[in-house]
Amino acid sequence: MSDSLILRNPATEEVIHEMPHATVDDVDAVVAKAKAASPAWRALTPIDRTRLIRRFADTVAAHVDELAELETRNMGMPIGNSRWCANAVADTLHYFAGAVEKHTGSSIPVAGGIDVTFHEPLGVVGMITPWNFPMLMASWKVGPALAAGNTAVLKPAEITPLTSMRLAELALEAGIPEGVFNVVVGPGSTAGWRLVEHPDVRKVAFTGSTEVGKRLMVGCAEQVKRLTLELGGKSANIVFADADLEKAAAAAPGAVFDNSGQDCCARSRVLVQRSVFDEFLALFIEAAKQWKVGDPMSPDTAMGPLVTAGHLAAVRRYSDGLDTVFTGDVPSGPGYWHPVMIATPAYDAAVCHEEIFGPVVVVIPFDDEADAIRICNDSIYGLSGSVWTRDGAKAIRVVRAMEAGTLSVNSNSSVRYSTPFGGFKQSGLGREHSMHVLDHYSELKNVFISTD
Ligand code: NAD
Repeated sequence: MSDSLILRNPATEEVIHEMPHATVDDVDAVVAKAKAASPAWRALTPIDRTRLIRRFADTVAAHVDELAELETRNMGMPIGNSRWCANAVADTLHYFAGAVEKHTGSSIPVAGGIDVTFHEPLGVVGMITPWNFPMLMASWKVGPALAAGNTAVLKPAEITPLTSMRLAELALEAGIPEGVFNVVVGPGSTAGWRLVEHPDVRKVAFTGSTEVGKRLMVGCAEQVKRLTLELGGKSANIVFADADLEKAAAAAPGAVFDNSGQDCCARSRVLVQRSVFDEFLALFIEAAKQWKVGDPMSPDTAMGPLVTAGHLAAVRRYSDGLDTVFTGDVPSGPGYWHPVMIATPAYDAAVCHEEIFGPVVVVIPFDDEADAIRICNDSIYGLSGSVWTRDGAKAIRVVRAMEAGTLSVNSNSSVRYSTPFGGFKQSGLGREHSMHVLDHYSELKNVFISTD
């Protein structure tokens, strides 16, 4: 392995940044810094902690264009999406700034005294994030961790660290004390794994593949270390015959091709009731033809390249030779381009069951409500999904039966900082967002006080 990280712009293949890998010793030094900063951070009055996180949010908001451009150059996300992400980082931080004083304990009726609960900070939290939404994933972890009184060591994916590094600088600029929010950049197997092993790291918050998540679970078992996991998905977009088919079809490309399909919530299985299968498929293909693939720095681009040459090769292992009903165009010249693809393969094909993490979608017919639910739940994953129907009662029956954590009806939008987000089955453990996530960044302490 080389001693330095070489980062390339995925749209041009040009080298944009080189930096050394963090070693295990570097990680240890950063954890020590976070540990040293912990007592003062947890001792801050709640309103002072709120004010500092809010100032961090305002500082991010003042740097949206810079962060967006950095993200697009590092990972190829279209600039409009990157700008949306940068604004969402600021909003997420604002939400958790406001949450500090609202994460309340309780008093419980008991005999002979009173019983009260406290949410205590964990201490140093290790965070390991993926490359697909780098700054957004960072904020989803840093926001609640800091709000709950912890200090943070974030190890972003080594191929897309630039916005996470910049966020740490902006935190300092905003007045977050030195050592409270730290970023360390290095490979997962060494720098990331050290956060699993380090005894002073009290929790690991992980977003990434199910395969690595399982390894982390084994590693954390050694110290009974707290662990939350946001993992992979193969989400279903279920379209019933009584749905507004035009609306469902117009929204379907965005639900799976957004961020080049490199989205854990991608609705990469479209299940369509057999009686409207051909009609829906024709509408879906028409909508996919409008999906503009090209220069991610151009504001009207819908989809850029894939993140690296290696990931392009991984997606092609599924798409090479795939019999498609639609394949889009890609720019010529340098860049890790992959066209959007719509396929209707036999149900037992791997593309119907495995997470591809690229712009490849399968469309699968179903007969009735029970059949739709059966196919939807025939997956090791259970992260997200959608139901399209004009029958409100059916929509409720189906979402209740779907084995997935983050769902939407007559919409593909299901992720918000104010609502719980996470997966069933092998899509994860625990939840992000909303007040629920604060429970994953604190210990619940129970105290009985005698009044005798
Ligand atoms: P990945 O699992 O390869 O890597 C994720 C992170 O883990 C990176 O920072 C990596 O360096 C680190 N890592 C790798 N091996 C490690 C080890 N042995 N010990 C400690 N850290 C290690 O995932 P990826 O390719 O970066 O991201 C894509 C995956 O992430 C997809 O499966 C996607 O579905 C998932 N994802 C899930 C969510 C969610 O919220 N559920 C969100 C985004 C992405």
